[in-house]
Amino acid sequence: THFGFQQVPITEKANRVAGVFHSVADKYDVMNDVMSFGVHRLWKRFTIDAAGAKRGNRVLDLAGGTGDLAAKFARIVGEDGEVILSDINASMLENGRERLTDRGIGGNVRYVQANAECLPFADNHFDIITIAFGLRNVTDKDKALRSMYRVLKPGGRLLVLEFSKPVVPGLSPIYDHYSFKLLPMMGKLIANDAESYRYLAESIRMHPDQVTLKAMMEAAGFERVTYTNMTGGIVALHKGFKF
Ligand code: SAM
Repeated sequence: THFGFQQVPITEKANRVAGVFHSVADKYDVMNDVMSFGVHRLWKRFTIDAAGAKRGNRVLDLAGGTGDLAAKFARIVGEDGEVILSDINASMLENGRERLTDRGIGGNVRYVQANAECLPFADNHFDIITIAFGLRNVTDKDKALRSMYRVLKPGGRLLVLEFSKPVVPGLSPIYDHYSFKLLPMMGKLIANDAESYRYLAESIRMHPDQVTLKAMMEAAGFERVTYTNMTGGIVALHKGFKF
């Protein structure tokens, strides 16, 4: 473990996904802003507000990448709280740690390299779990959702922010053109990496739609599962509770 992160065994499939993110880690933040025209900041702000974190809470940001959500949570939960930024990929996690440290955030943040499918945390530990644009990349999503349910406290909640299915008439063809044609082109121009962004477009199309993901969360044990469409359903925020 070259960055001193806690590590757990990672499967080969998961490793391939990790490879994609390894190759984009450095350009990751710029690409997020370019590809979403900056709107990912609003999606994340909405997620923070919906999480309803309080001082002293324990928060787990899964597939947390460069730490956008973790940074915001760290401010809200304060010194008596705890935020864990977790990702399967050491490069993303290292970028996240650098970014947070540079901004003076960190006293209450821990960094844990882990696969969302088998979380290395105690049962009933967290008040809040978030996974933003991460579940899509997880091989066994049902297993990951069950794992999240296990480590959540009774009364705790899970928020899944993810690409979903456009619900506004006429948006789908435009969006498909954008993701399958323009996105790889932009990936090539900015990160010299069309392939990773082709993978991104494909993973978005394969991902379960709003209703299917809600049912998957319920099957994993979550209750009062609701979702909110954003930007015409290009993105949706799912929220569910453990009681
Ligand atoms: N949450 C951040 C955000 O919204 O900017 C990062 C999202 S990034 C698109 C997806 C992240 O998922 C990558 O950092 C990748 O390493 C991570 N990831 C992929 N498969 C994973 C898995 N099985 N367990 C945990 N993290 C995973």
